[in-house]
Amino acid sequence: MEQIRKFTLEFFRSLKADVKEDGDVLVVSNVPKSFEDLFGKISPYQLCFSGGVKDCEFVGKGSAVLAAMTKYLEGSGKATLLKIDFDTHSGHKNLSGGIDPEVEIFKRLDLKNCEIANLVKKNRNNFFSRFTFMTTFRYLNESEQIVNEVYVHDGKVVNGSLDGYFVTEGSGVGCRVSELNTKKDYEIAREKVKELLKGRTAELGEMLSRKVDVEIARIKEHYGNQMRELGGDLGGTLEKVKEVELKLRTAEDSEKEGLRARLERLRNSLVKIGDDDSHARVLKEQEFTIKDVIHKYSLNVDNKLVNTTVIYYPVYSFRLCLKESGVRCSVAGNRRFLEMSYDPLTRSLGKIFCESCKKAISRLNLCSAGHISCDECLDHCSECGKVFCANCLKRSCSVCAKVLCKNCTTMCLGCGKYVCRNHMRKDCVTGDERCVNCLRVCLRCHGMAQERYFGEARDGSKVCSKCLGKENLSQRLKFSRD
Ligand SMILES: [Zn+2]
Ligand SMILES: [Zn+2]
Ligand SMILES: [Zn+2]
Ligand SMILES: [Zn+2]
Ligand SMILES: [Zn+2]
Ligand SMILES: [Zn+2]
Repeated sequence: MEQIRKFTLEFFRSLKADVKEDGDVLVVSNVPKSFEDLFGKISPYQLCFSGGVKDCEFVGKGSAVLAAMTKYLEGSGKATLLKIDFDTHSGHKNLSGGIDPEVEIFKRLDLKNCEIANLVKKNRNNFFSRFTFMTTFRYLNESEQIVNEVYVHDGKVVNGSLDGYFVTEGSGVGCRVSELNTKKDYEIAREKVKELLKGRTAELGEMLSRKVDVEIARIKEHYGNQMRELGGDLGGTLEKVKEVELKLRTAEDSEKEGLRARLERLRNSLVKIGDDDSHARVLKEQEFTIKDVIHKYSLNVDNKLVNTTVIYYPVYSFRLCLKESGVRCSVAGNRRFLEMSYDPLTRSLGKIFCESCKKAISRLNLCSAGHISCDECLDHCSECGKVFCANCLKRSCSVCAKVLCKNCTTMCLGCGKYVCRNHMRKDCVTGDERCVNCLRVCLRCHGMAQERYFGEARDGSKVCSKCLGKENLSQRLKFSRD
């Protein structure tokens, strides 16, 4: 029992959870999500080590907590599949289905001259991953552990937290974690962890390198002395021999032994002078000692992936049919089908763009031809008065320059230009429709006809061939009467 208690204590401490000992009970809070999800319960936990304590989770052979801890450490709980249920909010069930498409749409979009005739909510699954890394820094006799949880969504690290979401054990999604491709997300998460560890790594690195510098300086001094004693410096050594001999003469008895030993060493080193071998040996020894010290003061960083959790949640697709405001459904007005995606996690609704200027809009106008338009791109047809988008109002009358919709323009077959209804007339000679620019007024009948149907009347005025024909006819009749 004591062993299990110790193990539990160490386990939660290494997870950087808050552990409090309250008599026989261990109160653990602030536990990493990856453990909570694996265990299936949200912290704080009240743990006890002998059965039958009220409101406590028993930890012992065969208990769920112990199993979860072992599983976590082994990494066999490495892959978890979780589902976020937006339709069920933690605690209270929302029968209407959690997310109301109309509410979400109207929060972001103002329907100006149209309304929703019909709306269907569909959903598909979207995924994101959470990686839990346990990093152990080892240096000198210390070891320090840090747990990091990184969320990756759509190829990017996100500030994730499942707090406040209703999470259920994933099932029915039709695939296992191993089948989902988390490799790319993992690479991204690993880079993020490196970044997160940078600060602590640098701190420890600096502390160790300061220590190692001191050690190396000490080693160099030590071997430097040896080298000096070894020689190269014959004069210096002789000097020292003389110095020690002098001291020995006047020294107290107690010092004599030390001085004699020193003298011995100096004399020996005199013999060794010029001995390259011993030189090289000292250098080599110094090199080894330095290497040893560097190794001893090195920082060992061990990153272990403890858990991968794939979290899936529904992304909605709202399929809606817009219709002109005030028009009854049975009446065939202009309609428009629209599909918007809604991500309940990021609470973002797919953007709607003006089909004329392509800008994203928050106020939607429906053009009479069913196009989506922003306020700026919407205008009236000067003829019929209906609202149209800029794309539908590209034509204008070549005579009066009025802006017109497609329905209100006619192309003149004489000049090929568009004109309004008012400036399109009937040729009084042929009955063809022509624009007023292609016609000329006959001063006799006040009708209009194309230039080529004009001729000179008897009084010299230009008249249409109809009037000309009448004149000729009456002339002939007059002749025949005469
Ligand atoms: Zn526009
Ligand atoms: Zn019109
Ligand atoms: Zn339009
Ligand atoms: Zn006109
Ligand atoms: Zn014309
Ligand atoms: Zn005429």
